[in-house]
Amino acid sequence: MLNPETQIVSTAGQSIDIVREIQHKRFANDSLRPHAARLAILKKFKETVKRYESELIQALKEDLGRSAFESYAADVGLVIDEISYAEKNLRKWMKPRRVPTPLALMPAKSFEVMSPLGQTLIIGPWNYPIQLLLIPLVGALAAGNTVVVKPSELAAACESVLSKILNEAFDDDVVSTFTGGVDVSTLLLSKPWDHIFFTGSTPVGRIVAKAAAATLSPVTLELGGKSPVFVTPDADLQLTARRLVYGKFFNTGQTCVSPDYALVHESHRAKFVDLVKKVVEDFYGQNPKESEDFGRIINQRNLTRLLDLIDADKVALGGDHSAEDRYLAPTILDDVSWDDKVMEEEIFGPILPIIYYKNLPDAIKAVKKRDHPLACYIFSENRGEQSYLLNTLSFGGGCVNDTLVHVSSHHLPFGGVGPSGQGNYHGKNSFDTFSHRKGMMRNPSWLDLPVRYPPYASWKFKLIKLLIGR
Ligand code: NAD
Repeated sequence: MLNPETQIVSTAGQSIDIVREIQHKRFANDSLRPHAARLAILKKFKETVKRYESELIQALKEDLGRSAFESYAADVGLVIDEISYAEKNLRKWMKPRRVPTPLALMPAKSFEVMSPLGQTLIIGPWNYPIQLLLIPLVGALAAGNTVVVKPSELAAACESVLSKILNEAFDDDVVSTFTGGVDVSTLLLSKPWDHIFFTGSTPVGRIVAKAAAATLSPVTLELGGKSPVFVTPDADLQLTARRLVYGKFFNTGQTCVSPDYALVHESHRAKFVDLVKKVVEDFYGQNPKESEDFGRIINQRNLTRLLDLIDADKVALGGDHSAEDRYLAPTILDDVSWDDKVMEEEIFGPILPIIYYKNLPDAIKAVKKRDHPLACYIFSENRGEQSYLLNTLSFGGGCVNDTLVHVSSHHLPFGGVGPSGQGNYHGKNSFDTFSHRKGMMRNPSWLDLPVRYPPYASWKFKLIKLLIGR
């Protein structure tokens, strides 16, 4: 019988063992180290992505029913931007970084040397199938590594365009693509890597971490969770409703940092839902099914899972669906309680539960009982309240008076904490994630004080106590 491993090949037709061998050789010949070589790789990468812009947008429409605007803003455009930013800053990032030297070690000089890790693996999810695979790839290549990538099999149209882009832009000994599902990931994860970068769900993150432990491969895990939105008594309600609806229903709620649920101060009980309903209608019309700007659920399995979270008694808007075109209306569940089913797991779809709270400390306490969220959003005009929340709750990152937008800055680290992830990336953070920082000290030869060497006379001991441990 054929060994199933031998049937899994890259999109260029190579087995994983062959790919690892040729990538090992390529890394070891040091041709990926020079700045010019990395820049040339990034340049070709950007040109190829640009050439496929319309195919990518079309593929996102097929997989997720997404509008061209959202596909460009949150997938294709972000990737192009990330490459340009890396091109512009690469020389600076690659330079050794000077750090201070303690008095006792003077006159040595200390610095960090950024060194590529070697052979890396990137596994992506289906919800932003382009950027969540290609933005980590920018970091891995900028840092001088070879890469094996595995896109999500669930966004099948995107997987196919990505394969074409990656095969055209790169030689197989620099970037090699494997397509497929769990069997392919499992095979890739059984090999030792110098770094594994995984984006996906927390349960699969656990599987990845376990596999990585067996080969002692370092990991970055970009996972999920339930991200809360706090709406405090003095929030600007019109603005809150607009930015909340924008963040919740962008990509039909299938966003890892999507506002999962809203914690609204009870003083807004009478008006908040009506404001939110009005914004949904302004954005998507009276029948969102007809709107070009409202997307679709990735597959039937997820649609069924989402329908199961809707408590018909609490529906203030939406709830209707159509299985044949994977449509679920923008849905608002009002006056939800912490024990409702919709509060058990990450929603990852167009359902917005609203919970009313009496005081902020109690609301924060309730959030703290759960896993650290990937994102958190606070709508408040009160600086004291903003800082209180920022300083008491642990979460990956977020916004004050907005949702989602923190993710599109190269200057901010993006990543979770605890079960929502470990490690971070974007911009220079990606370069650092895919580099090893060699801690180096250069000591001059012209001075060689005898104090550090045996025999350790008592005067030496007194002197060392003056210099360290004070
Ligand atoms: P997923 O974990 O099901 O799949 C992610 C990848 O892992 C896919 O390539 C898939 O083929 C592979 N995979 C699936 N099961 C596997 C297994 N048993 N062993 C090895 N590999 C396996 O995630 P998804 O459904 O594609 O994405 C949705 C989840 O990802 C949500 O929880 C979301 O919050 C999270 N997410 C996080 C981020 C982030 O940046 N933190 C971004 C997007 C999505």
